[in-house]
Amino acid sequence: MSKVGSPENPLRVAIIGAGPAGFYTASSLLKRKDLCVQTDMFDGLPSPFGLVRTGVAPDHQKYKSVIRAYDKRAQTPDYRFYGCVEFGRHIELPDLKEHYHQVVFTTGAQTDRSMGIPGEDLAGSHSATDFVAWYNGHPDFVDYQFDFSQTRAAVVGLGNVALDVARILCRTKAELLRTDMADYAIEALAKSNVKEVYILGRRGPAQAAFSTPEIRELSELAAADVEVRSDEAQLDACSREELAKSKNKERKKNVVAIQKFADAQPTGKSRKLAIRFLVSPTKIIGSESGRVEAVEMVRNEAFQSEDGSVRPRATDRFETLPVGLVFRSVGYRGVSLPGIPFNENWGTIENEKGRIVEGASRQPLSGLYTAGWIKRGPTGVIGTNKKDARETVVCMMEDLQAERMLTPAKPQREAAEELVKQRQPQFISYDDWSVIDAEEVARGQESGRPRVKFTSVAEMLTVLGR
Ligand code: NAP
Repeated sequence: MSKVGSPENPLRVAIIGAGPAGFYTASSLLKRKDLCVQTDMFDGLPSPFGLVRTGVAPDHQKYKSVIRAYDKRAQTPDYRFYGCVEFGRHIELPDLKEHYHQVVFTTGAQTDRSMGIPGEDLAGSHSATDFVAWYNGHPDFVDYQFDFSQTRAAVVGLGNVALDVARILCRTKAELLRTDMADYAIEALAKSNVKEVYILGRRGPAQAAFSTPEIRELSELAAADVEVRSDEAQLDACSREELAKSKNKERKKNVVAIQKFADAQPTGKSRKLAIRFLVSPTKIIGSESGRVEAVEMVRNEAFQSEDGSVRPRATDRFETLPVGLVFRSVGYRGVSLPGIPFNENWGTIENEKGRIVEGASRQPLSGLYTAGWIKRGPTGVIGTNKKDARETVVCMMEDLQAERMLTPAKPQREAAEELVKQRQPQFISYDDWSVIDAEEVARGQESGRPRVKFTSVAEMLTVLGR
């Protein structure tokens, strides 16, 4: 038998998850001139691109331009996409071991972290991840309901997702109509009564996880003034010291931007986006009927912890913020996969630089790899996954050299496709996706929008004439 990776015996790689980490992994493999490799990418959704389609804010189209590079890579003959094919449902680990030399899990972080306080499950308390998936037209979230008859909403967390959620809640219909947000979400948000949105951060301006362009951009909201209390914009002694020593220029620029908001006067816009610092929700208070009515929160003070970071410490001062909606935006969390060692504390697959390892012994599991958020946790921007995927591919290539890989009984591409056809006859190929994509873009052109999304698998299959 010729060497794996030769034209006669191509390296067969399965990639589970068609988001940025999956595409950067495929790209890193497919561009190698010294290797004959075929990548088959699986995703439970009919559409590729993961959070670039279902997570990136619809008013941030510029971040979606990475799709052009993914699309180019997907046009190469050695790449195949199998949409609507879910790992653990249509295909399982033994199937993959029978058909591939290497398998890479790039499933991202599909759920949210909880705050661990009473009232999180009340009606009107939502995870930001659910809201984001809903407004982006993720087929599994179209039926979610949000009560926009409320006038005040709280968004907990000082990350970019919290900013996305708060911004979307403050956008006017005219602003939303320039995006590719799901039509049902535009309709619901256009009728929204929400007038005040409060972002609640447990630490101060110097520790906010926002990216600077994102925080600055809030000044451009058509209908919302941004409000920051001047006492909360001032840095405490620990934060001043931390910032002075820090090489993180972004944090310094964030503080300047936040203090600028504190100095500004309201301009009389109809909505208010307030950012509060050094407050931690301690309880979500509900009405008798079980609906969110308010958030009880404690004021924090900053202190320097043993590891040198500035952490929040609760004082004995509490306040109650009346709100009818709460969005918990305290970070995403990975979901475990059948048969794959998982670290429950971190919400990540057990791995060393991308090689999946057995949890206790840390011994690599031959032929199994991971990349992206499910490998390292939900941190960084889209481009961070490029470097991350490259690290995994370096391990894959070392192992290939050392002939440490799976020994599939049926490594032929046709055998894998036959398996998919048996398990999921309605799978979506990349050509199918291109038809759906062109139709979405054409629908958008009619109304001057980037695209009008299909939000159900049935609609997409109809476009394909099935
Ligand atoms: P994130 O950046 O990790 O922010 C999570 C926030 O939640 C932090 O402020 C954290 O505070 C806070 N938090 C955690 N537990 C909390 C608790 N129990 N109570 C109160 N606050 C709590 O996560 P993210 O916003 O979900 O974003 C995920 C990743 O995607 C990030 O890397 C982000 O930059 C990226 N992203 C980028 C963009 C963009 O570039 N435009 C857009 C969206 C997302 P502490 O810091 O005190 O822990």
